[in-house]
Amino acid sequence: MNKPIIAIDGPAGAGKSTIAQMVADRLGYLYIDTGAMYRAVALMVIREGIPLSEHGKIAALTSRLDIKFEFVDGIQHIFADGEDVSDAIRSPEATRLSSPVSAIQGVRKRLVELQRRMGEEGGVVMEGRDIATVVFPNAEVKVFLTASVTERARRRAEQMHQMGIEADVNQIAEEIRERDLRDSSRQHAPLRMAQGATLLETDNMTIEQVVDAVIAIHNEKTADPESAEG
Ligand code: C5P
Repeated sequence: MNKPIIAIDGPAGAGKSTIAQMVADRLGYLYIDTGAMYRAVALMVIREGIPLSEHGKIAALTSRLDIKFEFVDGIQHIFADGEDVSDAIRSPEATRLSSPVSAIQGVRKRLVELQRRMGEEGGVVMEGRDIATVVFPNAEVKVFLTASVTERARRRAEQMHQMGIEADVNQIAEEIRERDLRDSSRQHAPLRMAQGATLLETDNMTIEQVVDAVIAIHNEKTADPESAEG
């Protein structure tokens, strides 16, 4: 039997990356950050100066692009055409462009194909917006991770503060609202909770509590019914 797939979806700033990575470490599973893949495409669109309205060109670029994850000193890095773009994809420009780029159907089609290939053998924690609804609707474990806009903005401002950047928490909240709206109202693969997913509202939970909750769901869903009987 294949090892399970853990699908974690949710809006920007809900802590998906941190949680998914920690769950993967604890279970010895592979962690796949699908947002990084959309960001890599956005970065290349910026570099090649392709206008956002040129959907065909952006889809063609996505098809040509070689996207890979590799471990460097124990940390997962993303490579686009052989170049380590792990830091570059976090720039404000790439962040801003990743949302409209991810709404292009040709881009999603190609990246979903890649994601299915990366996860087909199981033993993965895949995190994004449409993992349990589109990429792996039969995933054994489906979690929808969220928190209030205020809490997500507070966490993001705190993160930036730690990086030495002072940001206006109200402005961050406004940007989060905009991204939420765009991601949930788009035509292709809008952000929504999948059937059979467990909702985790994390406003009043610590990171460890969220990780424990996901692992508990995993253990419950993958328990061998025969050994439970005996
Ligand atoms: O999760 P992250 O913020 O890195 O994702 C960047 C952008 O990629 C998001 O704004 C979202 O629009 C898009 N995305 C998506 N589907 C996924 C993962 C990310 O549309 N599975």
